[in-house]
Amino acid sequence: MTQRAFNFSAGPAVLPVPVLERVQRELLALPGPRASILEISHRSGPFLKIMAAAEANLRQLLSISDSYTILFLQGGSRLQFSMVPMNLLGETDRIADYVVTGSWGRQAAKEAGKFGDVRVAWDGSSENYVRTPANSEIDAGPSAAYTYFVSNETIEGVQFSAEPPANNSTLVCDASSDLLHKRLDISRYGLIYACAQKNIGPAGVTIVVVRNDLLERSSDALPGYMSYKAHAEQGSLFNTAPTFAIYVVRLVTDWLLNEMGGLETMHALNRQKADMLYEVIDESGGFYQGHAAADCRSLMNVVFRLPSDELSAAFVNEAADGNMTALAGHRSVGGIRASIYNAMPMAGVETLRDFMIKFREKRG
Ligand code: PMP
Repeated sequence: MTQRAFNFSAGPAVLPVPVLERVQRELLALPGPRASILEISHRSGPFLKIMAAAEANLRQLLSISDSYTILFLQGGSRLQFSMVPMNLLGETDRIADYVVTGSWGRQAAKEAGKFGDVRVAWDGSSENYVRTPANSEIDAGPSAAYTYFVSNETIEGVQFSAEPPANNSTLVCDASSDLLHKRLDISRYGLIYACAQKNIGPAGVTIVVVRNDLLERSSDALPGYMSYKAHAEQGSLFNTAPTFAIYVVRLVTDWLLNEMGGLETMHALNRQKADMLYEVIDESGGFYQGHAAADCRSLMNVVFRLPSDELSAAFVNEAADGNMTALAGHRSVGGIRASIYNAMPMAGVETLRDFMIKFREKRG
């Protein structure tokens, strides 16, 4: 079998090996239905049990109360850029505040502008999206139907360490690249969502956690698939659910609970992994330049530059020779991006750290 590399992809991204092994073992036939997860009905008993277990795991990991509905949807996070304003803007107060700390927030705000008045409550573009705002800088207000932010900007590697204030409007969060990296106080959120393919599972399913009272905002005039209410009423079976992806989410959340010991332990490990790389950046005498301001650094996506594009290219190539892949930065930012989600093992980060130190000694 091909040796697995340390895969630093931003998404779809690394999954826990025990999860992949279990998928491999069970792929031909699940115990019970004696058919593959790929072959059974989304309405069958065995699948409904799998989806219920995935939901129960998410509720346990994040202490999500019954006041919230969990939906398993398709269409990726991009569809949420539209579904959020389509459902939450309501009939009259069609104003939403967007805190824009990077590329994904910018694109979500642009999409929301098709459905209502978007007010940019803070915009980091003039500073090249290097930081999150202080609470006092955010101009969000109660007249907005909701206040939207991206907890971790995957491309720039800029992460909020705590929720920004919604100032009495409903807080909505795109947590696509950091949901489940630590515990959250869900009661602060009206709605929080994440596509699975970074920290939670494979591409194909998006998890939406929405406070029940907000479901009443979904107009009956919405196209069926676009309505949170329709999905909630059908228990995420409005249409054929992405069965395989939900099955893997169940296994990943089992792994977090049973093998990693929950999100507090996971968070401590994530911090340790990220600190290891940021320390090399800070001690490199300027050879490595981190993109994010020190207090806004992402624990999930470590984004940095080298002195030239040639050196960045050499870095990526030599890292691949050392069994580390997918380190090239996003095309809009350049440089290097090391994505170190929950499932990236400590050994992968240690290998990258040692490589960074050697590369600088050689080329710095
Ligand atoms: N938001 C964030 C923070 C992301 O990282 C991504 C994917 N990179 C998206 C939204 C878009 O997700 P999708 O491709 O699932 O639509």
